[in-house]
Amino acid sequence: MTARGELLGLLQVSALGEGAEDRLNQSRDLAMAIADGMSLALSNIALREKLRSQALRDPLTGLYNRRYMEDSLERLVRLAGREKKNLSLIMIDLDHFKKLNDNHGHAMGDAVLRETAAAILGSLRESDVACRYGGEELLVILPDCTIEDAAAKAESIRERIHALSGHHGTSISASFGVSSMPLITSQMTDLIATADAALYAAKKNGRNCVVLAEVKKVKAPVQQAVSDESAEATAPAAELIQLVAAE
Ligand code: GH3
Ligand code: MG
Ligand code: MG
Repeated sequence: MTARGELLGLLQVSALGEGAEDRLNQSRDLAMAIADGMSLALSNIALREKLRSQALRDPLTGLYNRRYMEDSLERLVRLAGREKKNLSLIMIDLDHFKKLNDNHGHAMGDAVLRETAAAILGSLRESDVACRYGGEELLVILPDCTIEDAAAKAESIRERIHALSGHHGTSISASFGVSSMPLITSQMTDLIATADAALYAAKKNGRNCVVLAEVKKVKAPVQQAVSDESAEATAPAAELIQLVAAE
């Protein structure tokens, strides 16, 4: 059975007993019609699956695309809020990727992006969502995951990406920003913005490292008459945790 130049399957018709050959010959037209109908149906199913995948996934890396990520993040943030669970985000950006393209060619850049995606997927749970956020920027949603666990996960992904260097004979690394709800924020847009700010800090910090979003400053409770009007303090339990790659 073929359709649109593609081989889709084989329909076998058999008969037994007296006059088997005659009966088979009589049913030839019917069998051909059934095969044609089935070919078309199978081809339509395959086409629909391909289109669905193209709408959801980035063709180069096979990761989810940004549109799908935004839809699922919105849903997962709501779910985490309702179930009072943690949810963490890891924003990843490959370091000096323009230089890698310039020095080694776009094809190698593409290969590194594909291998980076595989390294990320190899570290995640099936329920996590990894997407290509932009050119060489990737984002991972980790439902039911604390900021500490997300930081450990980011660190292990960082090591895996850095280990690609040996195979390609050039330094490959990425910087990571981690944010989490409800610790940092419970707003979806702030979650992305704080992970992005942490990523920016990781770049400033020398790249190839993981930085966690800062817990917001809060006003210290006024217990006595305070003469100093600018009495602001960080929340007592809140501290900035920063993991820096040991080189
Ligand atoms: P930084 O460490 O500050 O992130 O530096 P950078 O060079 O990685 O950042 P910059 O934003 O200057 O450059 C990003 C580069 O990523 C430029 C662009 O050509 C490359 N890039 C984006 N998408 C693709 C792609 O699909 N394939 C390849 N090969 N390169 C890509
Ligand atoms: Mg980059
Ligand atoms: Mg970038």
